[in-house]
Amino acid sequence: MSFDRCPICGKYDFTDKHKCRPKWEVNIPDYHGEDDWDNIVYAYDEEDAAKDMAERYNSNGDYALMDGDEITVLVRKPGETEVKTFICSAEPDIIYYATEKKTDKKTNNAKNNM
Ligand SMILES: [Zn+2]
Repeated sequence: MSFDRCPICGKYDFTDKHKCRPKWEVNIPDYHGEDDWDNIVYAYDEEDAAKDMAERYNSNGDYALMDGDEITVLVRKPGETEVKTFICSAEPDIIYYATEKKTDKKTNNAKNNM
């Protein structure tokens, strides 16, 4: 059993159990232009596809979505005319760190005895 990147959808998964998520055509009209459906995303549903595209857009550029910007992402099944429109935004996660500070025990004992 090996864990690798799928050559089709690009997701990391166990290669023997992997099934690609459904394929979606996505478009950011303000960025790609009105009728450019060349961007393919593999995602569970339309919303997931829109988020995936927003993430790609955000990390390719200057992280504009981190400044409160919103983008419009259009999603459709390949070749179909029915389009769903999503307004996408993002916010950064806060990551907390805790690193134990090692102290010299001899110094602590000396202080406790005082
Ligand atoms: Zn795949």
